[in-house]
Amino acid sequence: MADVSHGASGHKLSLTAKVMIGMVGGIIVGVIFNNLGSAFIDDHIVGGLFAMVGKMFVNALKMLVVPLVIFSLLCGVMGIGDIRLLGRVGGKSFGLYLFTTAVAIAVAITLAIIIGPGKGFDMVGIDTSGVTAAEAPTVWEVFANIVPTNPISAFANGEMLQIIFYTIVVGIAALTLGDASKSFAEACEYMNELMMKVVAIVMAFAPYGVFCLIAKTFAEQGIDLFIPVIAYVTTLVGALFLHLFITLMLILKVTSGLSPFTFMQKIRPAQLFAFSTASSNATIPVTLRCVNERMGADNSVASFTVPFGATINMDGTAIMQGVATVFLANVYGIDLGIGGYITVIAMAVLASIGTAGVPGVGLVMLTMVLSQVGLPIEGIAIILGVDRLMDMIRTAVNITGDAVVTAIVAKSEGKLDLAVFNDPDAGLVNEENLSIDPAAEERLATAARPHLAE
Ligand code: ASP
Repeated sequence: MADVSHGASGHKLSLTAKVMIGMVGGIIVGVIFNNLGSAFIDDHIVGGLFAMVGKMFVNALKMLVVPLVIFSLLCGVMGIGDIRLLGRVGGKSFGLYLFTTAVAIAVAITLAIIIGPGKGFDMVGIDTSGVTAAEAPTVWEVFANIVPTNPISAFANGEMLQIIFYTIVVGIAALTLGDASKSFAEACEYMNELMMKVVAIVMAFAPYGVFCLIAKTFAEQGIDLFIPVIAYVTTLVGALFLHLFITLMLILKVTSGLSPFTFMQKIRPAQLFAFSTASSNATIPVTLRCVNERMGADNSVASFTVPFGATINMDGTAIMQGVATVFLANVYGIDLGIGGYITVIAMAVLASIGTAGVPGVGLVMLTMVLSQVGLPIEGIAIILGVDRLMDMIRTAVNITGDAVVTAIVAKSEGKLDLAVFNDPDAGLVNEENLSIDPAAEERLATAARPHLAE
């Protein structure tokens, strides 16, 4: 199967290297275009061509998510073969997701209180009108909505928790039917394989898509946006990196004994995609492949924990909400006190359960956190300008958290192939080879024309 990250032998550049080049090229071109300030470039190249190609690429990634999750989860549930194991994987990953998010925001708030960004901030020239608070769904509502009334509409709307729930129920039903489900299981295996091939086709366009997305962001976001909120940005980036490189890696090492170094190498492609798209959801296909093929986490675990994590686990988003709350409290000279900060932690953890992994949603949820602790939500306007770039970094942190929990849970269940994890070349296949391999062709012919297959 083609891969997103082969480091490959031969003189050809790996796809990851090409994506990196696209990203760096995008930053350079974006910054140049931003400084040129040409209306033609802004309207036709940045707002036209770059916006179109970038959107096509993100759309293509999103187009993969629902079918990929359905078939890989069905294969996972049927492959696990044991409903108790499924329950354990669900329980462990849910607990770990809540735990890592709570740790993330607690550390972020502490760091922000120590650094104290926003003290003596000058509000002159900032338009804070027109920001309204998001409605906070209750925890009960969030849980009740996991059960879809109409699975087709859940699929159509990409309601990830509902899709996961429904697919698992169908998978369990198929398991209990035993032998009668044999051809259904084979069909799912085939569809899963087919979807992986579609992923490979989309990935071949990734360097161009990433280039356009990044160039557009940097062309639109002038560097001067950062100056007034530089204290916020540096505290936030510091807290995100602290969580990414220290906290998560410590949790990984202590609970599973796996090497953080190897882990970081293998998750890099997913981090690049998360950074470029600012969407955990759109990154699901890449995260799945990284943990599955590069790290050796069995599909029976990964097919569940990855989409589940992309939906409920948002460490980076919680960190942003913690730092932003402290920053805005300082700007407005309001002392939240220890009770206020505990409320922020609880709210952010709950908010991350009910929030989909799409761009910018963390900021919307921040309005809910702010109104809960009595801070003026108009304050959001102050950090709005820099949020896209912060979103890109926090999304990379979000999906890294998903992969850490996947690795821990898979290892604890004996579902992580250490030989694959420790092999630097695991999963490195020439991703540009989109020709049909003979074995797959054979299977395809059999599946598509069973009457001819005798
Ligand atoms: N963009 C983030 C994600 O997809 C969510 C957010 O913080 O806005 O994970």
